[in-house]
Amino acid sequence: MTQPEAKVLSQPKRPSEDGKLNLRRWSDFYRAIINNDESTVGVVTRILRANFRDHRKGYAISFMFLFVVAAMTSLSAWIMRDVVNQIFVNQNVQMLWVLSFSVMAIFIVKGFATYGQIVVQSRIGNRIVAENQKRFYDRCLRFGLDFYNDRASSELIMSISGGSNAIRSILDTIVLSLGRDLITLLGLVFVMVYQAPLMSIIALLVAPIAVLSVSTLVKRIKAIAKAEFASSAQIIGIIQETVQGAKIVKAFGLGDHMRDRMLTAVSGVEQRANKISQLQARTSPLMESLGGISIGIVILYAGWSTISSGKTPGEFMSFITALLLAYEPAKRLARMNVTIAESLAPVRALFNILDHPPSPTEADHHASLKLTRGKIELVDVGFGYRPTDRVLSGINLSVDHGQRLALVGPSGGGKSTILSLIQRFYDVQEGAVLVDDQDIRNVSVASLRHNIAFVSQDVFLFSGTVRDNIRIGRLDATDAEVEAAALDAFADDFIRNLPKGYDSHVGENGVQLSGGQRQRLAIARAILKNAPILLLDEATSALDSESEHMIQIALEKLVEGRTTIVIAHRLATILSADKIAVIERGKVVEIGTHPELVQMRGVYEKLYRYQFDERSAEKAIA
Ligand code: ADP
Repeated sequence: MTQPEAKVLSQPKRPSEDGKLNLRRWSDFYRAIINNDESTVGVVTRILRANFRDHRKGYAISFMFLFVVAAMTSLSAWIMRDVVNQIFVNQNVQMLWVLSFSVMAIFIVKGFATYGQIVVQSRIGNRIVAENQKRFYDRCLRFGLDFYNDRASSELIMSISGGSNAIRSILDTIVLSLGRDLITLLGLVFVMVYQAPLMSIIALLVAPIAVLSVSTLVKRIKAIAKAEFASSAQIIGIIQETVQGAKIVKAFGLGDHMRDRMLTAVSGVEQRANKISQLQARTSPLMESLGGISIGIVILYAGWSTISSGKTPGEFMSFITALLLAYEPAKRLARMNVTIAESLAPVRALFNILDHPPSPTEADHHASLKLTRGKIELVDVGFGYRPTDRVLSGINLSVDHGQRLALVGPSGGGKSTILSLIQRFYDVQEGAVLVDDQDIRNVSVASLRHNIAFVSQDVFLFSGTVRDNIRIGRLDATDAEVEAAALDAFADDFIRNLPKGYDSHVGENGVQLSGGQRQRLAIARAILKNAPILLLDEATSALDSESEHMIQIALEKLVEGRTTIVIAHRLATILSADKIAVIERGKVVEIGTHPELVQMRGVYEKLYRYQFDERSAEKAIA
């Protein structure tokens, strides 16, 4: 075995933490929301269809309570006639008792019904938020990598949290408006018409004026609310980039640049929020004035008719009470559209994701892969991430059971893409990828990935303990198996030296692990998975020689008896490979064993010589 080399054959990859500014993605997201002009009725119907049916029983109870609330409100207006006529005009002592207790009873019943309604409604609301979040996440899991490549995570965060809460708020608004406000209003209008028909007509004349004025406001609010939502998502995005790219933000002195971006987004949100509030508030002077004018006219007319025609003041009082009580539900009903308008943008964002077709690469209706040997073949493979550019073309490669194929070549040549295609992260556009002679498009993707262990060069750690992170290799592994895998990966020592050993937390807020330690965790995962096919993307970053040595030994053990394709950056790996393929600009330019390729005096030989010279130079310096 040759000693491993810390040097790399190809240029290091672009660091994943380059704090890439997602401006293009933002404008796409923004445009998607702005251009989604599904009508309000369309959105609301869809919300009702998808969420109302499952909660029919709950809503029926909620409506029952609302009906009681509405009935009690109308009754409280109704009873005013007898309160005034019996107590104040007729001075009936017996009725004094009856009516006082009736008023108390009405309000107590109303209080309890309101309590019941709020409890039931909140339960349904919380359930609906939870259901939508589950639905959203299930959908997300069915998208392929192409979906995630095109999106900022903050966009998804905003859609899942904003969208499901907005659905709840729209449903609440509809239920309360129809259940409580509409029934209350109808009850009160009935009281008004019954007690004083003519006065009712005067009072109700203002309704059409109110409806018309509010609908023009709604249009403007909808437009601003869309922009508001997109900017709010952008704020989350900037925070995420600041956290994830903290090192780069500091190193490149991007503080001012980030601050400017944040300022633009924040002040955009602030201005639009002000505008929305102002527009919403505009319903107040409108409704107050209209309400005041109609109440004023009614008092004028009623007072005049009571004085001149000797009508009892009871009807008048009952009518005025009903009118005053009707004012609040009428106002809320008129504003219902305004409230819904504000919630439409996040709901549309959520629908955009739910409507996005699941990726064919994740479809799982095929039969399982029948693995016999673990032979991998790429036959005339052509692929591009976008229709216009070609990343791979005419790739023919094959690795048999237990063999090792090393991919080498300059960065950007397409080596990682080949590993992605074998795992069916993307579908080839030409040719086919075969595993044991089965086209991977015709087998279930779960069974394919189950048979492949992938060790990538940037090791992602999930929030949780070290133990949890190794167990990702096989979720049903016992603690002993996890520790055995760590031992084989030369990770056991450093893990036991962590403050809480295997139970130390890693991930966003956990202990910091070095590059070498992370790689050993990744190897432990792969050992635990124990899959017949191994795909390995060797780390380009230079490791300390001890880590380097341990990783090399661990890898040697890991590849034993498996079909391995490795993106090789180290001489040791290359020398131990059965076959080496040089990938340049999406093509296999040379293929063979190390001695064959050196003899060819082509691209490989140059790469190797460069490496060799570097080694000599290093030795000379040492
Ligand atoms: P290598 O592994 O040899 O460095 P890659 O397979 O990573 O090369 O990349 C090959 C080409 O594909 C590069 O030009 C790269 O920019 C492009 N590429 C890689 N990943 C993506 C992606 N997710 N979307 C678009 N282009 C990509």
